[in-house]
Amino acid sequence: MLNRSNELAAWDRDHFFHPSTHMGMHARGEAPNRVIAGGEGVYITDANGKTSLDAFAGLYCVNVGYGRQKIADAIAEQAKELAYYHAYVGHGTEASIRLAKMIIDRAPEGMSRVYFGLSGSDANETNIKLIWYYNNVLGRPEKKKIISRWRGYHGSGVMTGSLTGLELFHNAFDLPRAPILHTEAPYYFRREDRSMSEEQFSQHCADKLEEMILAEGPDTVAAFIGEPILGTGGIVPPPAGYWEKIQAVLKKYDVLLVADEVVTGFGRLGTTFGSDHYGMKPDLITIAKGLTSAYAPLSGVIVGDRVWKVLVDGSDKLGSLGHGWTYSAHPICAAAGVANLELIDELDLVTNAGETGAYFRAALADAVGGHANVGEVRGDGLMAAIEFVEDRDDRKFFDASRKIGPQVAAALLDRGVIGRAMPQGDILGFAPPLCLTREEADIVVAKTAEAVKSVFDQG
Ligand code: PLP
Repeated sequence: MLNRSNELAAWDRDHFFHPSTHMGMHARGEAPNRVIAGGEGVYITDANGKTSLDAFAGLYCVNVGYGRQKIADAIAEQAKELAYYHAYVGHGTEASIRLAKMIIDRAPEGMSRVYFGLSGSDANETNIKLIWYYNNVLGRPEKKKIISRWRGYHGSGVMTGSLTGLELFHNAFDLPRAPILHTEAPYYFRREDRSMSEEQFSQHCADKLEEMILAEGPDTVAAFIGEPILGTGGIVPPPAGYWEKIQAVLKKYDVLLVADEVVTGFGRLGTTFGSDHYGMKPDLITIAKGLTSAYAPLSGVIVGDRVWKVLVDGSDKLGSLGHGWTYSAHPICAAAGVANLELIDELDLVTNAGETGAYFRAALADAVGGHANVGEVRGDGLMAAIEFVEDRDDRKFFDASRKIGPQVAAALLDRGVIGRAMPQGDILGFAPPLCLTREEADIVVAKTAEAVKSVFDQG
């Protein structure tokens, strides 16, 4: 096994171009590579036999946990019966049709149809095209700009990477592209004016958005996209009143709302959708990750009635929609989705995410919230983050070059638990599988407290 794993590690460095990886360090062997071989429940095991409690559920996607026989069986049966047929020109399979119905049955009110893709990025790409098409059909060819937030994450394609508001995803890629704009992140902990209450800060964010719409011209602004709770940008719940105030501005200027629920869809916040959790009334919803718990790649755009009606008019005027992927509604992925959503219901995982999430976050705050280098412990449902600071009273952040967040994540991994160093700031993130038990939550909390101590309190 060891020989084989050494050989794999060498092939990996020589041949595999990894996403989101320091290419030079990986190729030269200066950064660890890890070959993952198996998984069961909340644990994964690597090729050397080392087991870790995955408190980030892969990339917050393995929501039902690893090793679920029901989903594996559904995939195998679909592969044997019919591995593929396309969904163009009205074609479908029982799995894709059934899944579309299951999604609409679970979606917030006013949702009409599901368009299937393969990744969160391509689903947001679909959103952009649908938004432009919508305004063209309505005879508003100038209304095309899309406003996102700094620190939002919406993918890493050309346009979706532009929607993303994180430097790492723009640097040296000539992004962001027009017509994408970014407004203030709803990041209360990092607000400039520390005298502001949450409500005041929410109003400030809504005012900034309104200023931008007025400066650009309301006739040019088509849509606003946001994750119900900021994810990759730092796991930051919206401040009190945020979505209410933002939606009032959008309504005033006839701007569509896209809720990017790639992370929050199907239970992560203790409600099936984050939109319902925070009172959002989106026109379009992006889904991916939790739709299949990543047992197979599948994403979707849930289209609300208001947009759907215009799309139907559009095809009456312009002919068939010129948009599709070969693998849209892939039957194997759809079969995984059906089994996954059934499993979420059977195991009552949405309730567990809410209850165990609250327990986990409270325990985390108890264990590390008082540490001199912990600025904030925050989160919602089964999403949590610890933000580290150099000086708590002055809210002084560490210099990024010290890589404090990655150091804590590495110390945690040494102790057998996977958390994620979020990309912009010293932030340790958690988003475990929704089947997490209290006993497993206790392990994550205890190991995190040890890791924090090991990084900050040596000697
Ligand atoms: N939207 C959100 C909110 C995400 O968190 C992600 C990925 O993490 C995406 C979109 C992009 O999804 P994918 O990586 O499947 O393209």
